[in-house]
Amino acid sequence: MICPDCQAEYLDNINECGDCKVSLIDACSLDLPVPEMTWIPLPTFIGSTYADMIIEILNQKEIPHYVKSNWSSSVLSTRGSELIDDVIRVFVPKSYEQQATNIVYAISGEKK
Ligand SMILES: [Zn+2]
Repeated sequence: MICPDCQAEYLDNINECGDCKVSLIDACSLDLPVPEMTWIPLPTFIGSTYADMIIEILNQKEIPHYVKSNWSSSVLSTRGSELIDDVIRVFVPKSYEQQATNIVYAISGEKK
């Protein structure tokens, strides 16, 4: 048995990694080649409200993703009353690109 996180090897009668507290997997399943994941940026959109909605849907559909925000815009803001929206960039694996892009367009209301 092997820990998928730290790759530590365990005896077959052990089911959980003592360090990571995750379920061990069968060693032979690791022999399969793991394809390198290619991350694709989705169309950008403005505002964390959209980001929250899109991320919620991605979670519901169990689409892996990570999010990057452009915080530099807030540095340029000198007027406290002015609300500067952040540019949010969401990345998904290439195999989910079309599905996730459709979600972004559906939420932001933009057409292709
Ligand atoms: Zn581990």
